[in-house]
Amino acid sequence: MSGTTLLKETGPREVFCGLTSIVWLHRRMPDAFFLVVGSRTCAHLIQSAAGVMIFAEPRFGTAILEERDLAGLADAHEELDRVVKNLLKRRPEIRTLFLVGSCPSEVIKIDLARAAERLTTQFNGQVTILNYSGSGIETTFTQGEDGALKALVPLMPSSKEDKLLLAGTLANPVEDRLKTIFNRLGIKNIDSFPPRQSTELPSIGPGTKVLLAQPYLTDTARELKNRGCEILQAPFPLGVEGSKLWIEAAANAFNINKDLVSSTLEPLILRAQKALKPYVEQLSGKKLFLLPESQLEIPLARFLSNECGMELVEVGIPYLNREMMRPELDLLPENTRIIEGQHVEKQLDRVRETNPDLVVCGMGLANPLEAEGISTKWSIEMVFSPIHGIDQASDLAELFARPLHRHNLLTQKELEAI
Ligand code: SF4
Repeated sequence: MSGTTLLKETGPREVFCGLTSIVWLHRRMPDAFFLVVGSRTCAHLIQSAAGVMIFAEPRFGTAILEERDLAGLADAHEELDRVVKNLLKRRPEIRTLFLVGSCPSEVIKIDLARAAERLTTQFNGQVTILNYSGSGIETTFTQGEDGALKALVPLMPSSKEDKLLLAGTLANPVEDRLKTIFNRLGIKNIDSFPPRQSTELPSIGPGTKVLLAQPYLTDTARELKNRGCEILQAPFPLGVEGSKLWIEAAANAFNINKDLVSSTLEPLILRAQKALKPYVEQLSGKKLFLLPESQLEIPLARFLSNECGMELVEVGIPYLNREMMRPELDLLPENTRIIEGQHVEKQLDRVRETNPDLVVCGMGLANPLEAEGISTKWSIEMVFSPIHGIDQASDLAELFARPLHRHNLLTQKELEAI
């Protein structure tokens, strides 16, 4: 591990909960439905986070359990059964139903695993009913995907065939592009997890080599390993450097000729570096502070520092999986300050003290910081944007250059008005 400074911090947090990941999971698996078992607050969160979907019939909903349902647990179970029954009657196309737990105390008392089992039997195989927690007490927003995928692993058929499994939701065009590159290298048997239909779960087993596309799949990776899969060690496919090493990790695992790998990747790298240039000019030398939220902070910090020349003030991360992050940590500049966990007040004090040019943070913190004249980037944008792979490196850099450009324009206008 490089000479990074790893520190821990606990205290008040300001992050979205795991329910948020429903917003991209329901797009990925259109035959699945996500039923949040929660309060009105949960319903509001999911509706506002997914507000962009108003034109499509949503594939998520909330079974709202309130005080009156607390009269007895039997009532809560009855209420849940009633909601599920109505939902499946109205939407017979649903093939997988996720019951997503939340943090209100009335929900914590319900054994959703048992409810899922009971309902699966009741619906006699017509639909698979699973559960996971999206509770804000236990999860930050990307951990919701980890929970959903972990719940799916036991349903994946067994197989001994050699294959590459890309784990973690990617934008469909990005995933297609990455598969094309692997095909060119001669890796033809590739599956994705989650699949594009919840019923088309890939088979896994001792011949499966897993390349994690997202850094927040700790539990899923452990479950896949327990099923005999090999988890490949690599940085994550953000930026040219990370994506190259990520692809090379798979190529090594499949014994692909190194010359073929470099002749395939070299033109892509040259093109991506050329496209990156204007953004490097804007970002180079700028001070960056990442507050913990998405779990993508370390790969982003590595990209923005190594390829865009930004100076890392502090890299916050909700939790640090050292094993999974080792290849990333090795690439960070010496003495990068990494803080695991959060004490939001202390972090905001450090932001003000260090006066960075750009802060990557959650939506709740962005507005107050902007009001103080500090440029921000919402970390949630990273999970909605197609940012993975060599070809996407300049688009990724542009996401960070944009708020700086905006800040410059506003400052210029203010100066002109004086
Ligand atoms: S799960 Fe908890 S943190 Fe998330 S919206 Fe519901 S009440 Fe809020």
